[in-house]
Amino acid sequence: MLIVPESEIANLITRQAAFDAVEAVFAAMASGEAYNFPVVREALGHEDALYGFKGGFDRGGATLGLKAGGYWPHNLEKRGLINHQSTVFLFDPDTGKPRAMVGGNLLTALRTAAASSVSIRHLARADAKVLGMIGAGHQAGFQLRAALDQRDFAKVIGWNRDPAKLSSLAAVAAEAGLPYEAVTLDGMAEADVIISITSSFDAILMAGQVSLGTHIACMGTDTAGKQEVDPALLARATVFTDEVAQAVSIGEAQHAVVQGVIAEAGIHQLGAVINGTHPGRQDDKEITLFDGTGVGLQDLAVAAAVVELAVEKGLAIEVDF
Ligand code: NAD
Repeated sequence: MLIVPESEIANLITRQAAFDAVEAVFAAMASGEAYNFPVVREALGHEDALYGFKGGFDRGGATLGLKAGGYWPHNLEKRGLINHQSTVFLFDPDTGKPRAMVGGNLLTALRTAAASSVSIRHLARADAKVLGMIGAGHQAGFQLRAALDQRDFAKVIGWNRDPAKLSSLAAVAAEAGLPYEAVTLDGMAEADVIISITSSFDAILMAGQVSLGTHIACMGTDTAGKQEVDPALLARATVFTDEVAQAVSIGEAQHAVVQGVIAEAGIHQLGAVINGTHPGRQDDKEITLFDGTGVGLQDLAVAAAVVELAVEKGLAIEVDF
C-alpha cells in the first residue's frame, strides 16, 4: 500500500490537475460510469464535530474508495489546526485490497474549489467581469483563486459576516492584480459570478440581490439544515448540481424542494453539460445556480491523481499491508 502524507500534497497537485480530475469525474457520473455511495455524516456529540464517510466507484477510472473525515469547528482557535480534517483511502477495485492512504485536507479545499471552477467554466457568461465572494473562511481563498482561472475577471467584490476577515480575499485579489471592494449583500447585484462558501444555517443571499445573467456557485451547504441562499433564488434560476440525490438531501436545493418551489426532476447534473447532453446556459439573461454538495468521487479523483504524481516523483511511501 502507498501512503502520500498531507505534507507532500502541495508539492504534487496543481489547481489545473484538480480541475481536470473533477471535471472528468463529474462527466463520468453523468454518463453512469461512476457513482457515489450514500453519505454517512454524524454529529459526534464531542468537540461539536461532524464526522462521516463519502465514497464511490468510478469504473472507467478504476477508482474505488472513501474519504473519512469532517468538520471540527474549534480546531483553529484551540489547536491552530484547520477545522476540516480528512483522509482518503483508495482500494483496488479488482481485489478489494487497500491501494493508498492520502492526506485529504488540502485535497478537500482543492477539489471543492475545482467544482465551483468547473461550474463557472461551463455555466457562467463568457463576458463575466465581476466576481462576488460570500464568505471569507479557510475555503474562500481556494475558491477565489480557482474561479479567477476561468474568466477574464476585472474586479472582485466580497461580503462576510465578520468584515475583518475580508482582508484575506483582498490579498488574493491583489495577488491576481485585481481591484477588490467590500460590499453589502445588495452590492452583489454587480456580480456576474457569485460564490457562497459559508457555514450558514439560514439564507444569506436573497433572490432580489442577484442580477439577471449571473452564475452562482453555492458551495457551503453540505449538510441537512445548512442554507446560504433564498429558495426563491433557486426558483428564478436553472439549477445544476454535482449529484441530484445529495442536492435534495444535504445541498442547497433541500430547502427549495421541501418548500415546493422547485422539483427534484428540474435539477440537472453539471456533468451532463460537460458531456454535451444538456445545453447548459441558454441565454445571457438566465440565472444559473450550481449546488455544489461535495461528492466522494471528487475526493477519490484528486487522490488518485496525487498517487500517480507521487509514484512518478518517487514521493509515495510504500508499506507492506
Ligand atoms: P470556516 O469555518 O473557515 O469559515 C466559515 C465561513 O462561514 C466564514 O466566512 C464565516 O464568517 C461564515 N459563516 C459562518 N456562519 C455564518 C452565518 N450564520 N452567516 C453567514 N456567514 C457565516 O469554514 P470553511 O473551511 O471556509 O468552509 C466553509 C463551509 O464550506 C463549511 O460549512 C464547510 O462544511 C463547507 N464545505 C463544503 C464543501 C463542499 O464540497 N460543498 C467542501 C468543503 C467545505
